[in-house]
Amino acid sequence: MSQPRIINIISNRNYESRRVFQILKSKLEKSGFVTPDEFSHKAELSICIGGDGAFLRAVHNNKFPQVPFIGINTGHLGFYQEISPEDIDRFIDDYINKRFETFEMSLVEAKVFTDKKNYFLNAVNEIVVRGQKSKVIHLDVFVDGNHLEKFSGDGIIISTPHGSTGYNFSAGGAIIHPRLSAVQINPIAPMSSRAYRSLPNPIVVPGNWTIGVHPEQRYKNGTTIVLDGTEMFYKDIIKINLRISSKKISRISFSSHTYWENLKTKFL
Ligand code: NAP
Ligand code: MN
Repeated sequence: MSQPRIINIISNRNYESRRVFQILKSKLEKSGFVTPDEFSHKAELSICIGGDGAFLRAVHNNKFPQVPFIGINTGHLGFYQEISPEDIDRFIDDYINKRFETFEMSLVEAKVFTDKKNYFLNAVNEIVVRGQKSKVIHLDVFVDGNHLEKFSGDGIIISTPHGSTGYNFSAGGAIIHPRLSAVQINPIAPMSSRAYRSLPNPIVVPGNWTIGVHPEQRYKNGTTIVLDGTEMFYKDIIKINLRISSKKISRISFSSHTYWENLKTKFL
């Protein structure tokens, strides 16, 4: 007997997503696929229904799985969500007939060194290092071992090429095409005064370079690390090393024009 073909369907809880979930599930099962209730790492595809937030949560909740993703957009922006709910039949037909491409997506990683332990973190869009309770933070920033600046301001965004259209873009960063292996360091409300001097613009460096972020002594317990929008707190932080991870996730795409169409229709 041949192996069952498993497809995960992950949906957020809003009404439209749940409606699309039911339709998709029954159509996939009619086409012979198995759609498990729990996420299966043996699946050949994971379909995520919702907006970008639903996709980001699906990736984090399932620990950056190797199963490729595709998204159906019922959300607000849906930059990552290629399929619209009206196109489910065409999507299934294209998928069964292998009219798609699989591509890898880079992640950003952080190694957090504290007095007691080290922690490894990953994110799809960006990792933000900022203060707590709306306070200014002072950080020593190193690029590839070189001291760059003493940053003062709200914080810094370290983003992947795919994440460059998220928070980074709103904070005045450049859009980096995902074919580049690069990481962007973008200051949020950098202070530039007689008291403090921080670079006002973003910097883009090779993805395998390490960006060292050392909170000043008095911010050891006043630093927030934000992974794709979710805040994390650690005690006694000594330093955070960030870079593009060797770990990747993958997605499938049905058109090579999606990236530019997306940029145009969702931002202009
Ligand atoms: P959210 O508050 O709903 O996200 C803010 C917006 O960013 C949403 O419209 C979301 O799309 C969109 N978005 C997410 N990733 C994107 C990407 N790679 N390119 C373009 N737009 C993108 O929260 P969320 O849905 O959980 O998303 C978390 C992300 O929000 C973070 O990773 C960060 O990039 C972004 N963010 C942006 C700002 C800002 O722009 N000032 C501030 C904080 C966080 P959907 O509507 O489809 O969800
Ligand atoms: Mn959202």
